Amino acid sequence: MNNAFVLYLEKHTDDDDLNFNGSRTFYIIKEKINNAFADTEIIASLPEAYTGELVKFSKVYVRSDNETENWKNLNEQFSFDNYIRIKADAPFCDMQIIGEMLDVHTKYIAEYTYSENIPAGFACDILSSELIKSLPDSSENGKSILPVEKVIKDNINQFDVELFYKEPDIRAYRLSFLSGNKRENMIMQNMINVADNISYDSVEKVLTENPDILYTTPSYIEIELSPETNANPLYSPVALAKKGRSQMDSKLFDKIITELDLFNTPVALSLSGFGEPLKHSEFYSIFEKALNTTNISILLLETDGLALDQNFMNFIQNRDVSKLRVIVECNGYSAETYKSIHNLDGFDTVNKNILNLEPVLKENLYVQIMKINETEPFLDAYYDYWEGHKVQIILQKQNTYCGRLTDRRYYDLTPLKRIPCWHLLRDLLILSDGSIPFCKQDPGAEFSLLSAKDMPILKIWEERKPLFVDNFNKKYATRPDCKSCDEWFTFNL
Ligand code: SF4
Repeated sequence: MNNAFVLYLEKHTDDDDLNFNGSRTFYIIKEKINNAFADTEIIASLPEAYTGELVKFSKVYVRSDNETENWKNLNEQFSFDNYIRIKADAPFCDMQIIGEMLDVHTKYIAEYTYSENIPAGFACDILSSELIKSLPDSSENGKSILPVEKVIKDNINQFDVELFYKEPDIRAYRLSFLSGNKRENMIMQNMINVADNISYDSVEKVLTENPDILYTTPSYIEIELSPETNANPLYSPVALAKKGRSQMDSKLFDKIITELDLFNTPVALSLSGFGEPLKHSEFYSIFEKALNTTNISILLLETDGLALDQNFMNFIQNRDVSKLRVIVECNGYSAETYKSIHNLDGFDTVNKNILNLEPVLKENLYVQIMKINETEPFLDAYYDYWEGHKVQIILQKQNTYCGRLTDRRYYDLTPLKRIPCWHLLRDLLILSDGSIPFCKQDPGAEFSLLSAKDMPILKIWEERKPLFVDNFNKKYATRPDCKSCDEWFTFNL
């Protein structure tokens, strides 16, 4: 068989994303290919906008936006039997695994071979020339901008596809190993600091023996602007929250978001906590600062929707809000259903506000409903109503705060095997008075003495590292009681 490697550079990637451990990732990958598959050609597949060092490779294909046409053109230009695609920012790509995948692909005369359980960065996918020739024309399916693997999976019955599986299955870590992601890049660097050679066979051992290497920077920070609420839904945890808080001092908010820059990694910031963010008297100036902070890559606004009025509309219409996601807590699709859960006559206002915002925010607007006994009878009608208005729906799991709230669930999705708590690894909750609870299960901030008022966030984050390491090693906290918590398998961003 006449095979070639395709070193595939994703869109919006530049040479800064291709640095790892002092080298360019593509030279690391090239050396691995040359050692394991001598004389096999390497084609660099590059997006049009890229102008970095990879353009100097001897074989280069420059892509347009039309993915299926790209593969057809590349195949016509180079005429190999199979194309082994590796991401260009995957310095941990494992030639042993790639060799095994190629053996499977050849043995079963597959047209497409891929793996679902091996995290991105270790394996590859393999496309045969025959498959590429028979990919549906973009003019036929209108899906030209979909990634080729999605086009194949959408038409899976047309192709001979091999799904490659290999132990260990480390998907529970929710990791990829691509240098273009700064946080993953840090983890990979931590890994090679403790082990010279990282192969897929060794990765689980390295992680379990050194869980601290997973602890990098927060990816989700939840800030409570105001402790006040409008409604008192059936499942509300407000009674458990710390007493005597007032709204966040805007200077404290400034301190926090300024200090976020020191992490030097993008973060999702959620304006939520236990109160309604729009009740803060300086909400719009705070909101503006958050929108303008570069390191905040996603800004979430979790609200009851009552104040998403014309003022809010005017504000967002005059600004770039592409990173804004608005989540409206709305457990109803009519005045009656809404009132039965929220204990408030608010549906008409919330409904009007959502419908006004939909044409502006489109896919960045969500309604959120809790999956509990009380919403189950109207869940289908709820979906029909909001989908009919093109509003996306988030189905939320009830948090009982370690069993302190009445359990209203009629299902249990808790995995059988316990995994380390993602919330300790990636989240930080800051209450309106600056106090930093142990986690969301500590709404009274009883089990942590840390405060954003008198300590830098970076230092607080470092202080919390042992909490994660202990949890990873199954030394579960008793305050809050991790053993009675069922939030450990949930994650935000
Ligand atoms: S397991 Fe539950 S209580 Fe323990 S840290 Fe995670 S979210 Fe908090």
